Order: sequence, then structure tokens, then C-alpha cells
Amino acid sequence: MANPFSLEGKVALVTGANTGLGQAIAVGLAEVGADIVAAGRSAPDETAELVARTGRKLHAVKADFSSTGPIAGVVEEAFAKAGQVDILINNAGIIRRADTLDFTEEDWDAVMDTNLKSVFFLTQAVARKWVAASRGGKVVNIVSMLSFQGGIRVPSYTASKSGLAGLTKLMACEWASKGINVNAIAPGYFATNNTAALQADEERNAAILARIPAGRWGEPSDLAGAAVFLSSRAADYMHGSIVNVDGGWLAR
Ligand code: NAP
Repeated sequence: MANPFSLEGKVALVTGANTGLGQAIAVGLAEVGADIVAAGRSAPDETAELVARTGRKLHAVKADFSSTGPIAGVVEEAFAKAGQVDILINNAGIIRRADTLDFTEEDWDAVMDTNLKSVFFLTQAVARKWVAASRGGKVVNIVSMLSFQGGIRVPSYTASKSGLAGLTKLMACEWASKGINVNAIAPGYFATNNTAALQADEERNAAILARIPAGRWGEPSDLAGAAVFLSSRAADYMHGSIVNVDGGWLAR
């Protein structure tokens, strides 16, 4: 029987693939056969090297998702460079930390625009292509523990990731009949740039570790398996699911 997790012949568009979770996902998808389009604002040189070692191709597309303006061009370039796109991984995201009493409109807008508004319109643009070509596809949104919990000092991040969890389900409902699967991965606490401030704060670091049953921070490569699964034929009947990869954080 053919391997249901194989992505041979598929192309995955991964946003923010130059570092952190996006890099690990891009490499994980390439390891099971996918070519990668890396869309982001920093050059994905290191990721390109890691993908090349798997024997797959990486096409880089310059993209700043802090506004929706570039999205149409990014999607055209991605499809033109790779010939097609079968999988969209909405990974690029930012976080701003400040007490809620002091939180600024700038920090609200910056996070909501990148993490929610651009993700919505990028996904819409890719799905329009798939529907126009009468073909399906797979969308995987990277959400968060703060899609389920409140968190502290990150109001726009919590709003954006709770919003994206909702949109995951809405898009799944509208597009399931068109052969488009929309699901999400909720990472727990992973050691990346995004969490550098928490890792450096002795008290928060200890409190976080004490609550993780696995007893350690996640490594970016811990996320790749779930991304492969949700991008593959094995997940054809999954629509609107959120897969927690959190070392047991939410089970606690
Ligand atoms: P990261 O190392 O900070 O990576 C974030 C990625 O998003 C980078 O590639 C970054 O590009 C890109 N990005 C940010 N703003 C962008 C913009 N305006 N246009 C294009 N690309 C942009 O953090 P990470 O932990 O890997 O985060 C990846 C995703 O996982 C995010 O959505 C984050 O919210 C989510 N997440 C992370 C954790 C965790 O514990 N680390 C937990 C839950 C969810 P640059 O390198 O150019 O800045």
C-alpha cells in the first residue's frame, strides 16, 4: 500500500520558514517528498540548505505579511515559481508583550494584522486558485495554547490566535465539500525567538516547565510530524481539527 503520509509530488507554501517552527515544518515536509515555497521577509538561506539536503527544491518568495497589500503578488509568484501549490502552512506570526492596562493600539494592530488579517486573505487567495482549478488542497494554521487559554500580557496575541482557531473551523465548514482541508496545530511552549523573553525570565521559565508533563520545552522538530500528517492524504477526512503538540500542557 502507498505510504499515506508521503508528500511526493506536492508543493507546500510555508510562511515564515526562515527560522523556528516554520523552518522545522518546511524541512519535515521536504523529508517526506514535498517541494517548498518559503514566503517571508527574511531570506530563508539556512532552510534552503536543509531542504536541499533532503533532495527537494525550495523556492524563496519575498513577502511581508504585516499588511495585505503584497498577498496577491506573493500568491502569483508562488504558483508561477513552483508550478502549483498543494499545501499552505500559515506559520508566520509575531507577539507583543505589555500589561493590558498599558497595551497600545500599535501593538494591537501589528499583531492582529500579521497573525489574523493577512492569514485570512492569504488563505482566501490560495483557496480561490484551488477552487478555480477544481482541485483541493490542505491548509494548516499554526495557532497556540492561547487559542484555548487567556495567557497574560499578550492581549492581541491571544485575540489573534483565538480568532485563527475560529477561522480554521469556519473555513473548514465552507470548503470541506470542495476538497479543501483546513486544520490547525496548537504548539505548546517551544524554544524559538517567539518565546525568548519567557525562556530568559527565570521565574516564568520555571513555572512553565513545572506545568509541562513532558518536563521540557518543545524543540521545533517536535512539530514536524503533526504538520506532515495534516498535509497528507492520511488527513483527508479531517476538517476543522486543532491538534495540540504541547508536551501534555493542556492535559494538565
Ligand atoms: P519565530 O522564530 O519568531 O518565527 C516567526 C516567523 O514569522 C519568522 O520567520 C518571521 O520572520 C515570520 N514573520 C513575522 N512577521 C512577519 C511578517 N510581517 N512577514 C513575513 N514573515 C513574518 O517564532 P516561532 O515560534 O517559530 O513562531 C512561528 C509560529 O508559531 C507563530 O505563528 C507563533 O505565534 C506560533 N507559535 C509559537 C509558539 C512557541 O512556543 N514558539 C507557540 C505557539 C504558537 P523574521 O525571521 O523575518 O522575523
